[in-house]
Amino acid sequence: MASKLAVIAGGGGFIGGHLARYFLEKGFRVRVADIKPLNEWYQVHKESENHAGPTKGDCRDFRICRTLCKSATEAYQLAADMGGMGFIENNKALCMLSVLTNTHMILAAQEAGVERFFYASSACVYNADKQKDPNITALKEADAYPALPEDGYGWEKLFSERMCRHFREDFGLKTRVARFHNVYGPEGTWEGGREKAPAAICRKVIAAKVSGKHEIEIWGDGTQTRSFMYVDDCTKGIDKITQSDILEPINLGSSELVSINQLVDIAEGIAGIKLHRRYKLDAPRGVAGRNSDNAKIKQYLSWEPDTRLRDGMEKTYRWIWDEFTAKYNAATAGQSSISTFTKGSHPIPGDGYNPESRHADTWKQGIPATYDGGVGGSSEPAARASAATGSRGGGKATPAAKKAAKPAKKAAAKPARKVSGKKVVKAGGKKKAAARR
Ligand code: NAD
Repeated sequence: MASKLAVIAGGGGFIGGHLARYFLEKGFRVRVADIKPLNEWYQVHKESENHAGPTKGDCRDFRICRTLCKSATEAYQLAADMGGMGFIENNKALCMLSVLTNTHMILAAQEAGVERFFYASSACVYNADKQKDPNITALKEADAYPALPEDGYGWEKLFSERMCRHFREDFGLKTRVARFHNVYGPEGTWEGGREKAPAAICRKVIAAKVSGKHEIEIWGDGTQTRSFMYVDDCTKGIDKITQSDILEPINLGSSELVSINQLVDIAEGIAGIKLHRRYKLDAPRGVAGRNSDNAKIKQYLSWEPDTRLRDGMEKTYRWIWDEFTAKYNAATAGQSSISTFTKGSHPIPGDGYNPESRHADTWKQGIPATYDGGVGGSSEPAARASAATGSRGGGKATPAAKKAAKPAKKAAAKPARKVSGKKVVKAGGKKKAAARR
C-alpha cells in the first residue's frame, strides 16, 4: 500500500520545514508548498515534492490549492503572512489577508477528500483582558471567549478556527486545530523584522559578542512573561493532535513561564557574557503575560511539550551563531538589527507579487503607492541598507529595495540553504555546492 501523502502549506517556513522533515522520517510522502522561491526556504528536502514561488506555491490561489491537495491523505495548513510582535502590531491588514490562504486550503482539502486537515492557530486568539498581568494564570482553551483577540493577526486566526469547526460540523471534514504558543528553534527567522523573542535575543547577544559592544536593547521593560516551545515538541504535537479525537482548538505550548529578562539571562549564560541592558519602552511588547495551560493536552494525550528552555535555546543559539558569523563580522555586526519592514510594505514574503494573477487587485492592498513606479524602496534607507547586506533569515526587502541592492548582492557570496541537512539548492532546483561557513 502506498504511504500517506502529507501536504504542508507554508513548508518553506520555520515550523513547516521541520514538519516536512518529521513526516519524511516517518516514511510519509510529502508535498510542500510555499510562496517564497526555493532558495529562501529554511529547509529544502530533496525527497519531498516542492512547489515553490508565486506561480506554484501561493496558497491564496485556489487553483494552486487544488493541485496541492490532489490525492493527499492529510493537509497541514501553516502558511501565513506573519512574524513577531513588531510585525503583527504594524501589519494588521497583511495578517488578515491570510484568510485567503486558509479559506482556499480548507476548500481544496474538502474537495479532494483528505482524511484530516490540520490548522495552525495561535495563542494570539486569547482574550486580551485575561493577559494584562505578568503574573498571569495560564490560558486555558475557554479563555478565547468572549472574543477579544490580538487585533489583526488574532482575529484572523480566530475566524479561521471557526471555519475549521464549521467545515467539520457541516461537511464532515476531520479538522484539527492547535493554538501554538511561541515556537522557537534552529532553521527559522532570526533577523529582518519577522523574528520572535528567542531568536531576536540570541541574535542581539551574538552581535554584542562579535562586535565587542557589550550592550543589548530589550523591547519593553523586560518583565513581560511568556512560555516558549521548542520546535521538535511542536512537530510532535501537531502529529499527535491531528491523529487524535480532539475536536476543539487546543493549546500546544510549553508551560515553563519566563520573563523576557530571564530569557536574556539564559542567552547570556550560553554566550558566557553579561550585557548592559537598555530598555526600549515604546517598542511593541505584546500582552503583559501569557502562558499555556496544559491540563487539556495532558488529559487527552498524556503528553505535553517538555523540552527545557535552556536546552532548546542552546541549540537555537548555536545555529544562529553559525548563520550570523557566516554573514557578519565585528565591523558589520550592528547591521544585523536593521528591519526590512515598514508599515504597509509589500504584502507578499519574498518576491511573490504576480501582476497576472486573478487576485492581483487584492494583493495590491498594502503595497506603497510608489511600488509601481519602482522607487518605493529607494527612499527607505533601512530597507535598502538591509537588502544591500543580502539580508535573509526571513526578513523581506521591498522589491525596489532589492533592485537597489542588486549589484551588492551579486558581488557578495550568498550563503545557500541546506537540503536535508547536507546539500544546497538554488532557486529553480539546481544543486550547487557552496562554502557556507
Ligand atoms: P514562517 O513565517 O516561518 O512560515 C510561514 C510560511 O508561510 C512562510 O514561509 C511564508 O512564505 C509562507 N506563506 C505566506 N503566505 C503564503 C501563501 N500565500 N502561500 C504559501 N505560503 C505562504 O512562520 P512559522 O513560525 O513557521 O509559523 C507557521 C504557522 O504557525 C503560521 O500559520 C503561524 O501563524 C503559526 N504560529 C506560529 C507561531 C510561532 O511562534 N512561530 C506561533 C503561533 C502560530
